[in-house]
Amino acid sequence: MEGGQPGPGASSPQSDSAEVVLHGVFALRDPAPKTSYALSLTRGRELRMQRVGSAPAGPGAALKLADCIGCSAFAGREPQPEPAAYFSVFCYPFRKGWWDASPSRQRLARTFRVCVAPEPEENLKLAETWAGKIRELAAPRVPRQEGVTWGLLPRPCHVLVLLNPQSGTGHALQLFRSLVQPMLAEADVAFTLFVTERPNHARELVRAGDLSQWDAVAVLAGDGLLYEVVNGLMERQDWQAAIKKPLCTLPGGSGNALAASINHYAGNTQAFKEELLTNCTYFLCKGLYAPMDLVSLSTASGKRLYSFLSFGWGFISDVDIASEKYRQLGKARFTVGTIQQLAGLKVYKGRLSYLPVEMSSSAPGSPSEQNSHHMPCSNGRPLHILPQPAPGVPRPPHEGSWPEDPLLVPFDQPVPKHWTVVPEEEFISIFAIYQSHLGADFTMAPTAKLHDGSMHLFYLKAGVSRLGLLKLFLAMEKGTHLDLNCPYLHYLPVRAFRLEPFTSTGLMTVDGEPLACEPVQGQVHDQLCRIISGS
Ligand code: ADP
Ligand code: MG
Repeated sequence: MEGGQPGPGASSPQSDSAEVVLHGVFALRDPAPKTSYALSLTRGRELRMQRVGSAPAGPGAALKLADCIGCSAFAGREPQPEPAAYFSVFCYPFRKGWWDASPSRQRLARTFRVCVAPEPEENLKLAETWAGKIRELAAPRVPRQEGVTWGLLPRPCHVLVLLNPQSGTGHALQLFRSLVQPMLAEADVAFTLFVTERPNHARELVRAGDLSQWDAVAVLAGDGLLYEVVNGLMERQDWQAAIKKPLCTLPGGSGNALAASINHYAGNTQAFKEELLTNCTYFLCKGLYAPMDLVSLSTASGKRLYSFLSFGWGFISDVDIASEKYRQLGKARFTVGTIQQLAGLKVYKGRLSYLPVEMSSSAPGSPSEQNSHHMPCSNGRPLHILPQPAPGVPRPPHEGSWPEDPLLVPFDQPVPKHWTVVPEEEFISIFAIYQSHLGADFTMAPTAKLHDGSMHLFYLKAGVSRLGLLKLFLAMEKGTHLDLNCPYLHYLPVRAFRLEPFTSTGLMTVDGEPLACEPVQGQVHDQLCRIISGS
């Protein structure tokens, strides 16, 4: 027998999590034979299932709606006189098989058969009531944090998915079809898929396209494509509004640092490949977004770039660039690249200055407040390589409307007095990262957050042995490199920095993408964009 009615607890004064919002008895559609369950939907966001006629159910018989990405109702397709309707619940709880090192999100779908009335419309109405209530209770709770505005994607919602078919091992499109698309369908998230054909294709699209038709822009690729998107949005006339469009990273590349970081911020254990993609698609289906800091970078030749992940020069950047050709290896490309670069370890000469976070409340210095250590012309080195902005360098049409960098002063002026100038001028690597992870198993700044107002600046001085460097890299998998107390490694959270290389050979990297070597300075812009994230 099947039956369903609003729960007796619906109007009860109970307000705790056990309060029953809906109660009914329905058959489970699969597997046959159709067993009946008494279902109780509780205020505590659980769908409790008790088999009719059996002993009270244990804790395993409840679906936690925090894991639920969608619920839909539909009319039965069987021939009359079966007027049944159905509702399906789609959950992705963490589960651990005996073969798994740690739990991962696994799909769990349940479809219930509603057949309490002779009229199919009545049954469909009841199925829709259940589906609607389950969706309502499954919606994530928006965190309340002073000075931080989180948000939820509207429902129904429409997402633009930008996909780089060449990223990573070249399987992004298959991953979209087999993993992402089914989850979006279950969550009732409509999408438009745009497959890029060349570098900068996505950048051009978001720079000129009408974004109003989409509630979010998702990127199924590596960090490189998201970097294009961020910069494309910032190049729009209406960048102030455009950069607030919630973005989403779906890891499909060889470098998926932001995805790994967001997975870490949500409290999940390290995840790779499909597991990480499932976690990130789950976040998109839930629709919660958080503000994210961006770093504005300016080069001496007049380029202005926006970065969400990192700026680097030296060893780490060289690993990234040199390993590009091994992209087909996936994340293993970085291991191969590290070994290669260790063999030909180089020293990079330049001047590094920074504004520590704790000093950033001081007013930016005027040119007269020159740092006492900083004598830009004394050794004649940095200034002679300062490229002057060439008269022909194209400027964005709206220049002047971009966010100002109040912490920075022009390159021809010394950094303000309250900045620190690093006394050493020989480095193995300089790296500013603003997220926790530089790769799925590369925890460079474990304490970093999406909106902590900081760049986590690391610099490794020349003199470190190859073995010492290797030890640091191995420790970065777990984020314990600072515990090694390596005297060559320095770490500081900063608000701004300037790097003046003494030679212009080689490349720097911004979010893993190459940048010609020249003086660069940057500062954090708090909460400039938004990103889909877990709680
Ligand atoms: P990966 O993590 O494997 O490096 P990314 O998504 O970061 O993958 O992309 C790497 C580079 O590929 C970026 O510089 C991006 O601009 C470029 N790119 C984007 N679309 C295409 C395409 N269709 N063909 C070739 N390169 C592309
Ligand atoms: Mg990349």
